[in-house]
Amino acid sequence: MAAQADSRTAGCVLCDTMGGLPVFEAAAFRVIRAQEPGFPAFYRVVWQAHVAEFSDLPRADRILCMEAVAAVERCLREALSPDKVNLAALGNMVAHLHWHVIARFGGDSHFPGAVWAAPQRERDAAREADVAARLPALDALLAERLAALVGALDAAGAGDGSAADGGGV
Ligand SMILES: [Zn+2]
Repeated sequence: MAAQADSRTAGCVLCDTMGGLPVFEAAAFRVIRAQEPGFPAFYRVVWQAHVAEFSDLPRADRILCMEAVAAVERCLREALSPDKVNLAALGNMVAHLHWHVIARFGGDSHFPGAVWAAPQRERDAAREADVAARLPALDALLAERLAALVGALDAAGAGDGSAADGGGV
């Protein structure tokens, strides 16, 4: 996107690439499916501009970012009824603001540990396939809800113009 071109940082994987399967893209943020082995419903809300810390964002953008995270969480709950949704913003490897939104299930390989912790059991291929089968419908729901969110915030002026051309991918 041209509007963010001057905020790109050379060598940053989230500036240089989409970072996963695109689900939704607005001017200020995008949502991708991360395709992490063992965790089929692993999404990321990626801020479009190269910003390291959440508190670097102005207030209106922090609100927009967290509303997007909440919308993704709600869609995961509706579509998958997970045992838990995990939210995390680490950025230790890639210091470009992104929130992980991960549907977790009691039988997944790492539960109740973090997805980055040591595995607790073998992966369950049947369970993963069952979740994966529901992802196309979930992705469609996400795109619809996020477009509605961006539209509503634009109408309210809460996005401060940063999401003015936000729409579907
Ligand atoms: Zn970046």
